[in-house]
Amino acid sequence: MGLLIVLSGPAGVGKGTVCSALRGKMPDIVYSVSATTRQPRQGEVDGVNYFFKSKEQFQEMIARDALLEHAEYVGNYYGTPRDFVDRTLASGKDIILEIEVQGALKVKEKFPEGIFIFLMPPSMEELKQRITGRGTESQDTINHRMNVAVEEMNLLRHYDYAVVNDQIDAACHRIQSIIVAEHCRSERV
Ligand code: 5GP
Repeated sequence: MGLLIVLSGPAGVGKGTVCSALRGKMPDIVYSVSATTRQPRQGEVDGVNYFFKSKEQFQEMIARDALLEHAEYVGNYYGTPRDFVDRTLASGKDIILEIEVQGALKVKEKFPEGIFIFLMPPSMEELKQRITGRGTESQDTINHRMNVAVEEMNLLRHYDYAVVNDQIDAACHRIQSIIVAEHCRSERV
């Protein structure tokens, strides 16, 4: 079985950027593509960044138990398609889920053996700048995301690892080291 790796942390902390950088460094790892009811941002492609769904389609996925977890985040639904995760793990490959904190805690209930990594901002001030600097969100959404982020920081204790994203390469290197070390655990050999 492959390893289920959950990379979580407040929105704006740089999960997406760190994941993209990791792809280059660890090309054998598979990335889960989530379903969401949020509108695509400019440049986002259906089936690559997300599976973009209507609320009805999303409800239907929940009803047929097609999602490993789902969460509502700032007015939209996000969820991890279950089949793809199961098939990837069964094929012996590692899979990374880049998801928000509530969803990560639900995955932990189902996959306690997963590896849970919390990506931290260097400071809350820096996080605010990152959320504002994206330039794609309204002031209301920014405020809402900041409030959610403060609450999310309190959930760090449920995670196995905390990685500060002070610099993308350094954060990537720490995550790579965690994954390599997890593969070397005596019980997995
Ligand atoms: P964004 O709208 O900025 O792409 O994502 C908002 C938040 O939703 C981010 O924290 C992202 O990690 C999270 N997210 C993306 N996909 C999923 C998912 O499948 N499940 C959950 N619970 N969160 C997700």
